[in-house]
Amino acid sequence: MHSLIEYYGARVNDIVELTTTLANFETPTSSKPHVDALANWIEAHLKSLGAAVTRHPRENVGDILLAKWNADKAGKPIVFLMHMDTVWPVGTLESRPVHVEGDRLIGPGVWDMKGSIASVLSALKGLQDRSEFPDRPVWALFTSDEETGSSNSWELIEETAKQAGLCLVMEFAATNNGLKTWRKGVAHYTITIKGKSSHAGNAPEKGINAVVEFAHQTLKITELNALDLGTSVSVTVVHGGTATNVIPAEATGKIDVRFKTKAEAERVDRALKSLTPVLAGAEVTVELGTSRPPMERDVTMERSFAQAQQLAAKLGHELPEEGSGGGSDGNITAAVGAPTLDGLGFMGEGAHAAHEQAVISSIPFRTALLDRIVAEWQF
Ligand SMILES: [Zn+2]
Repeated sequence: MHSLIEYYGARVNDIVELTTTLANFETPTSSKPHVDALANWIEAHLKSLGAAVTRHPRENVGDILLAKWNADKAGKPIVFLMHMDTVWPVGTLESRPVHVEGDRLIGPGVWDMKGSIASVLSALKGLQDRSEFPDRPVWALFTSDEETGSSNSWELIEETAKQAGLCLVMEFAATNNGLKTWRKGVAHYTITIKGKSSHAGNAPEKGINAVVEFAHQTLKITELNALDLGTSVSVTVVHGGTATNVIPAEATGKIDVRFKTKAEAERVDRALKSLTPVLAGAEVTVELGTSRPPMERDVTMERSFAQAQQLAAKLGHELPEEGSGGGSDGNITAAVGAPTLDGLGFMGEGAHAAHEQAVISSIPFRTALLDRIVAEWQF
């Protein structure tokens, strides 16, 4: 076994304990005081590791922390991206306390992503303890609202990523123990159809049936699917009509669009916005609501992933590759062109599920890999 994996293997109980300490702070995104309490703890811990910490206050969610080591050194920083919030409401620990069963650390938040925070802090401490902390800037951003879409941290993530030489998104490992080299983007649209009401018995011919128009549009929208390219376009919500005996004057709906490339996002966006009515006199409007860009498996991603695989190989491990239909803050960093690796957390299962758990035996390699990325990464 590689000596660095032995090194972190000898410290695995400390890392499990640190994960447990972090997970014992309950941090639902919606409770600022709770997330701030964890931020206080992490801030003190970062300072004990010699970091300069800037606290970015937030009104409605927890404050965000940006820690910097070697801020005065030349070169672009390596930036760790972590979120402190979880999906679990306060009180979850009461019925599901954090505990170890065999090779598993089980409990709310241990995998998504308190374990990742413990891994990063332990890798940086390991580098310091062995006097191998590199002569380069290393940053760590701790956000507070990833689980609800990062709206309060989006700009700061973008700003930070634009300065980064490499962004390490600490989401949990893929099911095959690999990294995630792509994540789909998502866009949500609202479609509104205007028709004309009329009595369904006395004068049906005088109405323009918005529900019928909606049906026509639904079929056209469904044709925009390109599943072979990873693009899905789904009409997911429909509302229409007011009473059984009235030709409906209005119908509205929601459309969920997922895509692997910006080009596909633009193709679908153009098509949705140029939909034209089938029934004479009907009106169709499509509006974009929230959206998140894709993390594309582009040339930058291929290059970054290849280097990560080489570092893993030196540690005697394969590093497979996978993608995800769901988003992370990696979508934000990749979209501004920052080299990004995602899925660097522990192996495990049950994110956002009652059986959430991390695989303890995956901790030494995953932490050693962070250690080597920080020490050896070439931009
Ligand atoms: Zn999550």
